[in-house]
Formats: sequence, C-alpha cells, structure tokens
Amino acid sequence: MMTAHSNAARNAGAAADVAPRPVLRSVCVFCGSAPGHDPVFMEAARATGALLVSRGIGLVYGGGHIGMMGAVADSVLAAGGRVTGVIPEHLMRPEVAHLGLSELVVVDSMHQRKRLMADRSDAFLVLPGGYGTLDETFEMVTWQQLRIQAKPLAAVNVAGYFDLLARWIEHSVSSGFIHRSQSGLLMVEPTVERALDRLQASLPAPGLAQEQAGRD
Ligand code: AMP
Repeated sequence: MMTAHSNAARNAGAAADVAPRPVLRSVCVFCGSAPGHDPVFMEAARATGALLVSRGIGLVYGGGHIGMMGAVADSVLAAGGRVTGVIPEHLMRPEVAHLGLSELVVVDSMHQRKRLMADRSDAFLVLPGGYGTLDETFEMVTWQQLRIQAKPLAAVNVAGYFDLLARWIEHSVSSGFIHRSQSGLLMVEPTVERALDRLQASLPAPGLAQEQAGRD
C-alpha cells in the first residue's frame, strides 16, 4: 500500500529527476608559472587544455604565457576553445601576459584576480605548481570551508606530485587542525579525466555556488 510518506518520497524523487543538473561550463585552472623538470608536467598541462575543449569547457586562468600556465592556455586555443585570462597589471611583464587569448582582463591586485577568476568559473582544477598555485588553491579551499562559495576543487596528482600535500592534509586532520568532515575539500585525483568527472559530479545546485557572496 502506498503511504503518504512514500508518496512524498516519490514526488521528491520525481522533482529531483526533472531539476536541471548543473553543468560544468567553465573551469579555473591553477598551475605553475614554471614548466617543472619532468616533461610529464607540461604533457599534463597540454592534455588538460585538449580535454577541456573536448568536453566543451572554457578555461579561466591567471593570464600568463609561461610554464604550465601558458601550456594549458595554448592547448585550449589550439583546439579551438575559449580562454579568459585574469592578470594584475604589475605581473603583465614578469608573467609575459598571453596576448592571444579570447579575453584578457587586467586587474589592479592579486586579490581582485582571485575574486574574478572565482566569479568567472564553476569549479577549480589544480595542476602542479609552486607557492602561487598553492596560495590560490588554499584560498579557494578556505572560501569553501567558510561557506563563502561552494565551487568544487580537484587536484591532478601528476607523477605523484600532490602525494605529500595529501599526506599533510591527513596529518593536519590527525593533529586536530582540519576537521575530518572537511578533509576532502580538495579532491586529489590521478588523472585530468577523473578530476573533471569529480568536479562535474560535485557541482552545487544552481544558486548555491556563491553561498555568501560578498563575505570575503
Ligand atoms: P607559481 O605556482 O608560484 O608558479 O605561481 C602560479 C601563479 O600564481 C602565477 O600566476 C603567480 O602570479 C600566482 N601567484 C604567485 N604568488 C601569488 C600569491 N601570493 N597570491 C596569488 N597568486 C599568486
């Protein structure tokens, strides 16, 4: 016999079935302004660009034309995709701003750059990089933790590059500084394909991406 409860559950299920699923249209990539020593890093950067285009996803990134950053942007452009670069005026020369992008936005500060890159994207993909890459990554992780935004982040563990970072997160959980429930805010995946799949599956319901806009 159908009960009121099971009717409600069925209706809720039906509503969920018809609710539009969020779609990953634009990904912000954080990665090194250096190429790294092992050629496998630049190969991963190029593969990322090609994969984004094959999945119909636009690239948002820091606007530089050097290292991993330049390789991701060039591979998206070569495959006919769309790239938005966001670069602070003072980095135009050191990072050799990429002048062939679909759009290059020049901002006043590093903070504005991060804010705009976040606003323009649905999720964040992290490839190997140095201090800048980790700064950008952890700022987004902490915005998630503080519920400023709900856009998912995934790191691609190219050649085990993020093994130590994953271990540090576990170490911080067991030391009592990161709550176990938040240990997965940065998802670490072995391949770009898997990372993009996780990002797509983790997109928040429409309207929740910017949970508390303006709080930061
Ligand atoms: P890196 O991983 O150090 O090669 O830097 C990658 C990107 O992060 C570059 O576009 C840098 O300009 C940027 N970056 C470097 N330092 C910072 C910082 N403190 N905050 C935000 N972005 C940074």
